[in-house]
Amino acid sequence: MSKSYQAIVIGAGPAGSSAALTMAQAGLDVALVERGSYPGEKNMFGGILHRMTSIEELLPDFLTAAPLERHISKKGTTFMTDDASFNVQHEASNFDRAPYNGYTVFRPRFDRWLAEQAVKAGATLVTRSTVEDLVLKDGKIAGVTIQGRSGQLNAPLVIAADGVLSFTAQKAGLRRPKFNADQMAVGVKALIDMPREMIDDRFGLVKDQGFANEFVGCTGGVRGGGFLYTNYDSLSIGLVFHLASLRTSGKTPYDLLNAFMEQPQVAKMVRGGRLLEYSAHVIPEGGYDMIPELFGDGILVAGDAAALCNATGVNLEGINLASHSGILAGQTVIEAYQKQDFSKKTLKHYKTRLDLSWVMKDLKGFRNAPKMLHINRIYNEYPEMVCSMMEHLYRIDGTPKTSITKLILREVKEKVGLKNAISDALTAWRAL
Ligand SMILES: Cc1cc2nc3c(=O)[nH]c(=O)nc-3n(C[C@H](O)[C@H](O)[C@H](O)COP(=O)(O)OP(=O)(O)OC[C@H]3O[C@@H](n4cnc5c(N)ncnc54)[C@H](O)[C@@H]3O)c2cc1C
Repeated sequence: MSKSYQAIVIGAGPAGSSAALTMAQAGLDVALVERGSYPGEKNMFGGILHRMTSIEELLPDFLTAAPLERHISKKGTTFMTDDASFNVQHEASNFDRAPYNGYTVFRPRFDRWLAEQAVKAGATLVTRSTVEDLVLKDGKIAGVTIQGRSGQLNAPLVIAADGVLSFTAQKAGLRRPKFNADQMAVGVKALIDMPREMIDDRFGLVKDQGFANEFVGCTGGVRGGGFLYTNYDSLSIGLVFHLASLRTSGKTPYDLLNAFMEQPQVAKMVRGGRLLEYSAHVIPEGGYDMIPELFGDGILVAGDAAALCNATGVNLEGINLASHSGILAGQTVIEAYQKQDFSKKTLKHYKTRLDLSWVMKDLKGFRNAPKMLHINRIYNEYPEMVCSMMEHLYRIDGTPKTSITKLILREVKEKVGLKNAISDALTAWRAL
């Protein structure tokens, strides 16, 4: 096997398929190489596809044609301890109309569909093919080799969209060989089968409305959080942990996930459901300071491979950043062909495009979020404080009430300490 293309995209996740779609629509001969037997086969995530306006521009029928599940009309956060919880929720009935607030999706269906759109536009999808190495000729990128196959795929331009552990970016010398555990997280998820009517009744949903809830204080003291998202007839429920904190704790993600699902507040939500599958994946959570070199001669890096993931503590955004960066990488390859220059001189415009886009603006804006998320007290003391405070506020038991300011001060002093609270508030202020 030895075929030539104008560009090769490694990985048919959202970043890779968006890049391939962009280039194919412009008439370039593109190979989209995926290790799975189909795109999405090996991919998992929590479950919310945030709005992707740039894909909507490339695919005008996106909202009606893509395999989307429920649109998120209700979002909540739960602060919890072992035996108490406090929820805040926001609901808006027009979230199903633009600007909608995201949809739940299944990666095996969504990734497959997006790659199919690239193929319809003219890209060649090469599945069951793990890229093993980059091929260099006279010091320039000339293609890739595929594991276990003789021959190679040739192209003077490669887009590395092979996900968070991108070995291609490492091979090209664009990122360091070792990861910093402080910048990585791991997510575990259980998919729970549940009848659609049960989900509608339990979470107060009608038609295609969906519910997304985040949980704080549910990770056994490990830095991290929980999530529960509604699909049409299943729930995605899981936990995300900072890798360094998980390692120090000596706990296992699956034990923590099982304990989470057995906590009374959560058990009520999943009751009557049937466990379909477990999955796990790594997340680049270091934000702006984790981003590697984004381009080299003949190569661009997009999506998780470039650590373009924004975990702010309020939302976890990855697919939308991956897709937009893929589109910008594709546009840069198109420009390189127009100029017939595949060197850094032209490819550096990918970084300029990214810098000017909301992707880099958001990552820069939330640059300090990882620092805030490393405050251990967020995952134990603060949820305890919130739950205890609300319990005192709501309890009426024939004794004189404490004023709200006194109550807050007492809880802060008891649970966190005044000095810590001021320092944490300042860190949060800088982060958000
Ligand atoms: C638990 C969890 C929850 C998340 N929740 C959300 C969420 O709710 N919303 C959100 O927007 N984001 C979320 N994310 C982040 C999101 O999943 C990623 O940011 C996104 O998938 C990145 O897309 P990508 O295309 O860059 O990489 P990936 O989706 O990882 O795709 C990479 C592709 O490359 C292929 N590949 C890898 N190596 C090779 C190789 N050598 N040769 C050929 N193919 C290869 C893989 O099989 C895969 O198809 C979550 C992530 C996790 C783990």
